[in-house]
Amino acid sequence: MSDKPHQNLAVIGHVDHGKSTMVGRLLFETGSVPEHVIEQYREEAEEKGKGGFEFAYVMDNLAEERERGVTIDIAHQEFDTDEYYFTIVDCPGHRDFVKNMITGASQADNAVLVVAADDGVQPQTQEHVFLARTLGIDELIIAVNKMDLVDYSEGDYESVVDEVKKLLQQVRFNVEDAKFIPTSAFEGDNVSEESENTPWYDGPTLLDALNDLPEPQPPTDAPLRLPIQDVYTISGIGTVPVGRVETGILKTGDNVSFQPSDVSGEVKTVEMHHEEVPQAEPGDNVGFNVRGVGKDDIRRGDVCGPADDPPTVAETFQAQVVVMQHPSVITAGYTPVFHAHTAQVACTIESIDKKIDPSSGEVAEENPDFIQSGDAAVVTVRPQKPLSIESSNDIPELGSFAIRDMGQTVAAGKVLSVNER
Ligand code: GDP
Repeated sequence: MSDKPHQNLAVIGHVDHGKSTMVGRLLFETGSVPEHVIEQYREEAEEKGKGGFEFAYVMDNLAEERERGVTIDIAHQEFDTDEYYFTIVDCPGHRDFVKNMITGASQADNAVLVVAADDGVQPQTQEHVFLARTLGIDELIIAVNKMDLVDYSEGDYESVVDEVKKLLQQVRFNVEDAKFIPTSAFEGDNVSEESENTPWYDGPTLLDALNDLPEPQPPTDAPLRLPIQDVYTISGIGTVPVGRVETGILKTGDNVSFQPSDVSGEVKTVEMHHEEVPQAEPGDNVGFNVRGVGKDDIRRGDVCGPADDPPTVAETFQAQVVVMQHPSVITAGYTPVFHAHTAQVACTIESIDKKIDPSSGEVAEENPDFIQSGDAAVVTVRPQKPLSIESSNDIPELGSFAIRDMGQTVAAGKVLSVNER
């Protein structure tokens, strides 16, 4: 771990536009692939008569890790620049990428959008940009990638830039702040070094743009919220819930409460990276032990918070949702599974209160009979089992969710207000 400030970065964009290759290139060029691994690739490459091109081997290895990583919710790749220590949130190419992007989105501070120069804006480009916006990604860096395939043509670059700007305007992203960079992840143009192939471009390289991102402010002032990922029993210690601190601070001696299981106790120990620590902050993955809380008292999906400011449990909540893909229409009574932080709970959409015009944010229709793909709406939701969730105004990190049905992400949203149980 480095003592540089930390940035969580999402890499988003349409399938095959080069997200994984870009991540591989970033790791490779920042020296984040250990020297001995590169050396091993170099030897392997020479043996196979492909001497000199280690990058391809790095990529193969990453691809393999991806395959193995499919059961892991979020894959962490890490690299550092002069300014920051970056963790890539999520695993590009993961089949649950969109879902993870939402449930892990509280983590991502900023995003790189990869758009292939020879293919332009595609459905997933739109979907990811829309989600990034809904979920509060602050800054977007756009890599117009595969410039080698369009002979580094400035005209082709500009037309993709225009296309993306239109898309950003549609979802009301701040177009002025967005940075566009012509890249080839494969050839390495404008990733860490200025490319001679794009003499018409005088902006930053991708690494420069990453260095220039504003420093994220960790939500340490908010009350503690720590969604539980798993609960283990460890001999000599006892029950050990694990999870990532989303907001606030977890300290030994604190009185904490788990909701909706509704049990509480005093924090005895906090562990991070197999070492005992006095406290944990937002972004820290911890295991901890609470006096008097047993393995069967709590479960994945519970949220841990201060006993005197416990996580909110919703009777109903009002939310703004965006329907991404639904084969037919959504009407009141629809009961899909909501994924919020580590919880998965069936929830009924009790009423569709307003349809919103996504391009202006204005109310387009009161009490519509149904909503469908592409629509944004305000809905009232009733969890079928107790669910801890927060208003995104109070605690944005715990205020967003994905709606899954029929094996796909149907919609995403954020909580506007909670009617407490
Ligand atoms: P992802 O699905 O967005 O993660 O895309 P990948 O990184 O898997 O890339 C998809 C394909 O495009 C692979 O065959 C890559 O080798 C290729 N690719 C990625 N970046 C570039 C690039 O800059 N130029 C060219 N020519 N091909 C690229």
